[in-house]
Amino acid sequence: MSTLEKLKTSVCIIGSGPAAHTAAVYTSRAQLEPVLFEGWLANGIAAGGQLTTTTDVENFPGFPNGIHGSELTDSFRAQSERFGTRIYSETVNTLDLSVRPFRIFTDEKEVEATTVIIATGAVAKRMDFPGSHEGKGGFWNRGISACAVCDGAAPMFRQKPLAVIGGGDSAMEEAVFLTKYGSKVYIIHRRNEFRASKIMQRRALDHPKIEVLWETQVERAIGTDKGMLNGLRLQHTATGELKDLQVNGLFFAIGHEPATKFLAGQLLTDQQGYIVTTPGTAQTSVRGVFAAGDVQDKKYRQAITAAGTGCMAALEAEHLLQEIGEQIGKSD
Ligand SMILES: Cc1cc2nc3c(=O)[nH]c(=O)nc-3n(C[C@H](O)[C@H](O)[C@H](O)COP(=O)(O)OP(=O)(O)OC[C@H]3O[C@@H](n4cnc5c(N)ncnc54)[C@H](O)[C@@H]3O)c2cc1C
Repeated sequence: MSTLEKLKTSVCIIGSGPAAHTAAVYTSRAQLEPVLFEGWLANGIAAGGQLTTTTDVENFPGFPNGIHGSELTDSFRAQSERFGTRIYSETVNTLDLSVRPFRIFTDEKEVEATTVIIATGAVAKRMDFPGSHEGKGGFWNRGISACAVCDGAAPMFRQKPLAVIGGGDSAMEEAVFLTKYGSKVYIIHRRNEFRASKIMQRRALDHPKIEVLWETQVERAIGTDKGMLNGLRLQHTATGELKDLQVNGLFFAIGHEPATKFLAGQLLTDQQGYIVTTPGTAQTSVRGVFAAGDVQDKKYRQAITAAGTGCMAALEAEHLLQEIGEQIGKSD
């Protein structure tokens, strides 16, 4: 006999970033008593999501002076709890979407849920070289970032030489975006050609502030006495030659990985693993299962867009529950 604790809910929310908590605020205020699994270092990210990995968030409305990422996510959580969301610090390992109600499993619980909202986010891939880490001797959040749109406007990058690592469309887009702030933007790329679309390549290659360092990789990051990034040691991938480059910002643009492996193919995803939703809605390929936030969005990937789709998922779940309730009422 299973020793798992059993719970029942109308709405089970999986995730803990702005999408999950916005869905939780809406569904708990609608008295649907949602169950939310915030994860236990799921995908290597603390409960609260990607914002826990950054410092100041300056583009989330309502905070004219900015707010620390972790403080913002703590507030999201507190707001969800205030309206009665049942939050568990457990990671969802598997779920069964072939049965009704759906079944969701963690190490400790089995949940029966009429609707499910998946908001497990994505992980911005980072590179690992000396100085790329957080804390002592590292420059993560001290010049190194994985989100140019989020961090590029920070005063520390204004009129300073910056670098982007990558060769896809995102790298081109981020490099062009950074030209608004930096004095010069280098694109560092391992190979001698980009995999970005031709049009995106042209935009970057034609920009007077952008210079491409082909067949180049970062060997280590170099910093000031105050622990801020101010240079990179680069290595030519073909000749092995080393050289130093002065930059005050380095942005990884090497892709994201959506957290969808635990779905085991039960929902339609695209080639990169992002959940496919019906355009303009949060509806996935399974009726009653909704997706919100970065797990279904490879374009915008911002806290506010995640929150927006969290709201959509919650309202759609609520409407579906009403519809099912009405049908049950009629047949009764
Ligand atoms: C360094 C950095 C800086 C950023 N700065 C900004 C900024 O300034 N402004 C801005 O708008 N955006 C910023 N972003 C982007 C923003 O953080 C994301 O767009 C947003 O957090 C996405 O929210 P989300 O709700 O989709 O999920 P996420 O924030 O990705 O959170 C998902 C959560 O779900 C959990 N989870 C995953 N799988 C499971 C599972 N199986 N069971 C339970 N839990 C699970 C994860 O552990 C994670 O905690 C930044 C991103 C990064 C990486």
